[in-house]
Amino acid sequence: MSMLISYDPIDQQAIGEVPITTNAQMPTLVAAAKKAQHAWAKVSLLDRQQIVVKAYEKLAKVQESLTLLISKEMGKDYRRASYEVAGTAQNAGYFCQEIAAALKPESMGHGAELQYRPLGVVAVIAPWNYPLAMANNLLLPALMAGNSVILKPSELTPLVADLFVSTLNEVLPEGVLQIAHGDSATGKALVEADINMVAFTGSLAAGKHIMASAASSLKRLVMELGGNDPMIVMATADIDKAVQFAVASSFENAGQMCTSTERVYVDARVAEEFEQKVVALASRYQVGQWDQTNVNIGPIVSHKQHQRVLSQLKDAEQKGAKFLLGNADYEVPYIQPTVVTDIRPEMQLEHDETFGPVVAISRFTHISEAIERANASPFGLGAAVFGGAGAADVAEQIEAGMVGVNQGAGGPGPWVGAKQSGFGFHGTAAGHRQFAQVRVISK
Ligand code: NAD
Repeated sequence: MSMLISYDPIDQQAIGEVPITTNAQMPTLVAAAKKAQHAWAKVSLLDRQQIVVKAYEKLAKVQESLTLLISKEMGKDYRRASYEVAGTAQNAGYFCQEIAAALKPESMGHGAELQYRPLGVVAVIAPWNYPLAMANNLLLPALMAGNSVILKPSELTPLVADLFVSTLNEVLPEGVLQIAHGDSATGKALVEADINMVAFTGSLAAGKHIMASAASSLKRLVMELGGNDPMIVMATADIDKAVQFAVASSFENAGQMCTSTERVYVDARVAEEFEQKVVALASRYQVGQWDQTNVNIGPIVSHKQHQRVLSQLKDAEQKGAKFLLGNADYEVPYIQPTVVTDIRPEMQLEHDETFGPVVAISRFTHISEAIERANASPFGLGAAVFGGAGAADVAEQIEAGMVGVNQGAGGPGPWVGAKQSGFGFHGTAAGHRQFAQVRVISK
């Protein structure tokens, strides 16, 4: 049996291992998922809700273990890891209720009823950066809709997913939730298998591959992909507030967040003050291990990802960007808080997703220039506009799924990307219904 080993990103020591799901095992997994799904679909929505809620209640006893595994497997500091676990465990009841309400049949009049039926077997393919939350966001609505789920977690965080799934499975009927371990090869085999939907969170490159592969049998898709979020700072902005946001959002989770601020466009009239304050605040961030106190930037998850951030910093250096804090030369596994200015469109820092603790700043003289550069990206996940009157107007012109005015993207609505950041989404009734097949019965 081939094993997938999980390594600590700090010292590359093995933390644990899980068996890799081979391609030969995939049909058996899918057959079990299909069998379980037929029975699961017959359980009433209310009963499904009760079973799923009970399953999530079991997470209470493994909260500490899940938190430690998130910290150990991907380096997130303990406090943030514990928020991720608490959010998943404690909000499940609320979301189950919201999903159940969204999936209730609706009368269309004239004897017609609109129903939200299960799709069948759903593959949930997840990334490592929020290893529990990202899996859960897609897995919960998929299960509640009466589908069975095969979760393919990231190869970098298999242990978190393993404990999550085995805990839920203390309550869920056998086969309704299974796990397939491995790297992208396992993900590919799962997408090609005889399943009905792929709910994916990850990179744009993998998303494109999955869409192409899913096309042959028109598998349903929810794709939550990468981002390159812009932030615009107008001359009328509350500069201190803008600085707080720019730094916090660029450095959160060591910058390894799909909606982290990746590009800051600041009005030249306030740029100097903004940059000085960004540097002052960024300098106070502490880099280190998840179990040290006062650490707010952990390690970069892998050598490959570390290399990617460095190569973008080196590219910016070579093309004339100015480093206000930090440099382009860090040893694994850390990237120190870095502030770079004079970013230009041809630099990788401008047009690629960085996924590291970097504030990348450009100045603009006219707001149209900032809007044009903000939109000149295939990505369109989140964005933020900081300014006085007129900021909301600028926000209206940004091509993104979630735009915050004097705050970050997101909030109480769905989690949704525009352009090549998303194809389908989760959250709110519209999101929950994407995990179901609409059927109209006319009598
Ligand atoms: P990734 O695309 O490399 O991997 C994600 C998952 O897909 C992993 O489980 C991987 O094994 C699997 N995979 C990779 N290639 C595949 C393929 N061709 N077919 C099937 N499965 C495949 O991404 P990552 O490095 O794990 O995560 C970081 C990326 O995820 C970033 O781009 C980030 O912006 C994005 N992300 C997006 C959101 C969102 O809400 N939009 C949230 C979190 C992360």
